[in-house]
Parts: sequence; structure tokens; C-alpha cells
Amino acid sequence: MATGFVAHVIDGELVESVRGNRFESVDPWTRAPWTEVALGDRTDVDRAVRAARAAADQGPWPRMGHTERGRLLHRLADLIVANGDLLARTDTTDMGRPVTSTVGRDVPRAAANFRFFADHARLTPAEALPSDHGHHAYTRYEPAGVVAAIAPWNLPLMLSSWKIAPALAWGNTVVLKPAEQSPASATLLARLALEAGIPPGVLNVVHGPGADGVGQALTEHPGIDRITFTGESATGRAVSTAAARHHVPVSLELGGKNAALVFADADLDVAVRTAAAAAFGNAGQMCLSGSRIYVERPVHGEFVERLHAAGRAMTAGDPGDPATEIGPLASAAHHRKVTDHLTRARADGCRVYGGDGSGWLVRPTVLTDVPRHAPVQTREVFGPVATVTPFDHEEDAVRLANDTPFGLSATVCTTDLSRAHRVAARLRAGTVWVNCFFVRDLRAPFGGVGASGVGREGGLFSRDFFTEPKTVVIDIAGC
Ligand code: NAD
Repeated sequence: MATGFVAHVIDGELVESVRGNRFESVDPWTRAPWTEVALGDRTDVDRAVRAARAAADQGPWPRMGHTERGRLLHRLADLIVANGDLLARTDTTDMGRPVTSTVGRDVPRAAANFRFFADHARLTPAEALPSDHGHHAYTRYEPAGVVAAIAPWNLPLMLSSWKIAPALAWGNTVVLKPAEQSPASATLLARLALEAGIPPGVLNVVHGPGADGVGQALTEHPGIDRITFTGESATGRAVSTAAARHHVPVSLELGGKNAALVFADADLDVAVRTAAAAAFGNAGQMCLSGSRIYVERPVHGEFVERLHAAGRAMTAGDPGDPATEIGPLASAAHHRKVTDHLTRARADGCRVYGGDGSGWLVRPTVLTDVPRHAPVQTREVFGPVATVTPFDHEEDAVRLANDTPFGLSATVCTTDLSRAHRVAARLRAGTVWVNCFFVRDLRAPFGGVGASGVGREGGLFSRDFFTEPKTVVIDIAGC
């Protein structure tokens, strides 16, 4: 039975929906509801956007300057760390991500996002343009206004903070819609923002579903100035269409079907460790998952055996147990999607290693003999499922890796430095990792090519998205 209640946060208040509706959030480990959540609709979205608009147009936040804003964002980061256990356990209960990851990675990363963007906004210079014609020109990076941030369920706190931190640091106000499968940490985060001294109306949270619900209402609202969206590629298309009605710029971080290339010259220990982390981490529920692995033929057999063994060695079970590495999939619907993929893969003639599990748990799964056009090879499964396919030479490897409409990330395992650079340059992806995975530098562009996204965020790319750059030209010739 659900015991708690997760409210919207609008204009600094924890509120029920105007119509008083609620929904239940389900703990994927117990498969039972664990909390009730305010179920918003267009009316609640409108209230939140109005609050964010008022805070943007009349409130202190956009006007207080980078130093003071940065101080408050650092305070928020401090509070995230101080409340790390609660935030981490909330995400673990909401979506099944192992607590070692929510405590050890997501909370520090969320805090780091706020610290980084606070400092980045304060320290980034703007251009002054010398002119030959008696004029001086410079650029002002002004807040864009009200940002709609729509987040997925797979890394709730971390991905919300990745959107909110740069938006706030550049002086915007935000309406956040977390995924309906993992809503609770967003309300906690907004409460901490208020506790840090961030003014009411600057960070608002509205809960509810996306299509025909809160998400859609937010993207269609005329009071929005930017939309930053992370989710499925198909949803990204709907978001773009809605945004186009009001000429609102969108940043889309979408799905992936990311390749990992293992060359025969690779250190196989590194390759197996990297591939296992990329394919099975967070039970494969990561846009960046390396789910299509291509291995140079001489080491293919050994690699398959070792990857399967690495998957088998991962502890799967209760995500609240610190020993657990693989938790359950996040929802009944998602569990059905992943297991349907495995059923279809068997019917398509794939050899399946692993893939067992009870409840919504699916243990790491390795597939070989995968037909090129099998859905498991072409579509994002978003589960702990990796296909492993042999290749014969570098050209072949690059062609296979690029044989997809997605282009989010890729991993290359090799000890040949020239090959690493050569192959990285030819892969159609927003990020290429060589002999590593998931290493992020917040100054670097992050985003995807093709069906994996539109635009980049990170460092100056975030500034350019979350601001309206303005050119000021001054006559200094005195005539
Ligand atoms: P989703 O597209 O189903 O939902 C994402 C968010 O959009 C949710 O909050 C949802 O309620 C909302 N939404 C749904 N329909 C909407 C609509 N019509 N208008 C507005 N909002 C709407 O995605 P998901 O299943 O929550 O997340 C998994 C997906 O996210 C995967 O495809 C994954 O690859 C992708 N993802 C991408 C990145 C990245 O950085 N590129 C990161 C994490 C996840």
C-alpha cells in the first residue's frame, strides 16, 4: 500500500493538483505502489508556467548576477550531498536503480552539475569585437526566460539536475516534468532548492504523464521559451512538433543503439570490463548503453565467453541491497518490452546466453548469431541485452557501427593509438569513448546525431541554448 505523498511544487508551495487527482508510483522490486503522487493536468501546468513567468519577469533570480546565483546553487549542491541518502533511496525505490549507483554516482553527479554550471556561468567571458569603423560591439548572454525541462525515468535525479543546473545558472526559471515512473526525487530537489534560498517560482515541478497529459501541455504552452527534453526518439518528434507552433528552441537528448568495437589488438580484460559496464550497467536502461558489440573475428569466441561470464558474475536482486549490481527493470510495461525482444530474438534464430530472472529482473543477456535486421539489433531494447557480432577488418567495423539511424555514443577498444583516432573520427556519434565508458567532462558537448538528438548541451553549448545572445554596438567615434 502506498504510504507517502509526492506533491507538485509551484511558486514555492507544495501543492495538490487543482482537481485533487493522484496516481501511484510503483516500487519495481516489490511491484507494489509505494507512494501517491499529485496527478497534474493543463491547469496545473498553467499555474506552474505562470509562476515561472512571474519569477522570470519580475523576480530577483535573473537579475541577481552570477556571483549571488552561483552562491545559492552551491548551497543547493551542499544540500543535495547532505540529503544524499534520502535522494538516492528515493530513486532506488522509484525505479529500481541499485543504491550503490544512486548513492555513489547520481547524488555526487547531481551536486557536481549544480557546482559546475554555477561556476561556468560566473567565469565564462563574453565576446568583445574590435571594429575598424568607430564602433565597439559586444555580446550579452541574457536568460532565455521560462524553461520546460522534461526528464525520463532511467536516471531521475541525475538527468533532472543536468537540465536544471545550466538553465538556472544562466538566470532562467524552470518547470520540470519528471517521468511519471520516477517522480519523487524531483519534488525533493525542488524543496531543497527553496531551502537553499532559491526564490519561489524559480524551480517548479509538475507531475503526470507525458502524452495527453502534463508533458504535452507543457510543450504546447505559449509561456515557454525553451524546451529541454530527454526521452525516446519518437517522443522527441512530438515535442519538436509542439515546440514549432510557438517557435520555441528545443534541445533533444534521445535514444541510442550504441556500438562498441573490440579490435583483436585490444586488452581483452579492459574490453570485457568496459563492454559489460556499457551493456549491463543500470540493467541496460541507459541511452548510452553499448548494446551492439562488434568484435574482430579472431577474438570473437573468447570475448563472448568472457562477457557472458562477466554478466553472470554480476549480482542481481534487491536494488536496496548495497551488494546489488543489477536491479529490476523499472516497470511492468518495460519488463514486457525487454522480454518480448528476447522472445523475438530466439524466434529470429539468435543464440541467447543468460536472460533469466524473476519478477521484473532480467539478468545480463548476450546474443550471438543475430540477423542484421533483427529488431534486437536495430531497435533500442533498453535492457541488459547485448548483441555480439564478428567483423573482419577496420573498414567493416566502422560500416557496421554506423549502420543505424541512431548516433549517441560509441566505444572503441584497441591498443593501437592511430587506429583509436582514425576510428573515432569516422564514427557517426556524439561521443566516442576509447577503452573507457561513461566518462563525462561537463565542458564537453553532449548530445546525439540523427535519431539520437538535436543540439548539444554541456559547457558553452548549454550557455548557447539557455540564453538569448544579444549584440550591442556602440558608436565610439563620437560623431
Ligand atoms: P519517454 O520518451 O517515454 O518519456 C520521457 C519523458 O517525456 C517523460 O517524462 C514522459 O512523461 C514525457 N513525455 C512522453 N510523451 C510526451 C509528449 N507527447 N509530450 C511531452 N512529454 C512527453 O522516454 P522514457 O521511456 O521515459 O526514457 C527512456 C528513453 O530516454 C530512452 O529512449 C533513452 O535512450 C532516452 N534517454 C536519452 C538520454 C540522452 O541523453 N540522449 C538520456 C537518458 C534517456
